[in-house]
Amino acid sequence: MNIVILSRNANLYSTQRLIEEGENRGHEMEVIDPLKCDLIIEKEKPTIYYKDRYLDYVDAIIPRIGASVTFFGCAVVRQFEMMNVFTSVTSDAIIRSRDKLRSFQRLSKAGIGMPKTVFTNYSRDIEKVLSHVRGAPVIIKLLEGTQGLGVVLAETKSAAESVLEAFNGLQARALVQEFIEEAKGADIRVLVVDGHVVGAMKRQGKEGEFRSNLHRGGTAEIIKLNETEIKVAMKAARALKLPVCGVDMLQSSRGPLLLEVNSTPGLEGIETATGKNIAKSIITYIERNRR
Ligand code: ADP
Ligand code: MG
Repeated sequence: MNIVILSRNANLYSTQRLIEEGENRGHEMEVIDPLKCDLIIEKEKPTIYYKDRYLDYVDAIIPRIGASVTFFGCAVVRQFEMMNVFTSVTSDAIIRSRDKLRSFQRLSKAGIGMPKTVFTNYSRDIEKVLSHVRGAPVIIKLLEGTQGLGVVLAETKSAAESVLEAFNGLQARALVQEFIEEAKGADIRVLVVDGHVVGAMKRQGKEGEFRSNLHRGGTAEIIKLNETEIKVAMKAARALKLPVCGVDMLQSSRGPLLLEVNSTPGLEGIETATGKNIAKSIITYIERNRR
């Protein structure tokens, strides 16, 4: 197959690993920067122009679209969809997963446990907003933050007030969420491929940090999931229609609580922590599912 990885940086670990495993299995692998594509839209033969040629020979794509280029990146993925090219994740599912509010609404409907969350249209009645999630301490997070940036722990009511006022003033929309203290600065990242769990790690934030993101200095180790955690991860992937994704959850006294589902999960942390060949799972998933 001709498999294209849509990525801005061919040197990233995840991109390199996908190329390596794809080539091992006899595929032609190519990295294309989505931002350098022109989309040609017409009735007969929609196509994509990239550096002096047309991308009309592609069998499958693996989108690795960064959060900062969601709009154009997803337009490119959608164009491939219009050309009947198989994609490991659809443009609609990427867009949905980038918005924490939208994802939470769908996940709650699917009956998945999550930290209790409030979303308001810049309400000034902070006391009421906090009361919905049992008062401070609370977590306040921007709708489209990533890598732990835009996630704040407000320990007191007055801290929550100032953070919300600041976000409101910037017209930045935020969720207010119950703080799950017993997670102790750790969370679980579960890699799902083809709807099944292929690896899981526990990430622990550095000393004094409630955010466990590896980008914030967290460390990771392999973890064995219990049955409920496996079920929640698979259910979340299904609810957001993401056959390949990273599902993040907190371990709480009332069971696993879903945090977010990432449509472009990094492979370095999880492959290193688990010793599993996740890149190969993604390639064989494409082989099995391309029409
Ligand atoms: P991002 O998209 O920026 O990674 P997350 O919602 O995943 O945002 O939050 C970042 C980290 O902060 C999580 O990995 C987790 O360790 C911590 N965290 C987030 N929400 C909560 C919460 N409600 N209670 C406790 N810790 C949380
Ligand atoms: Mg996260």
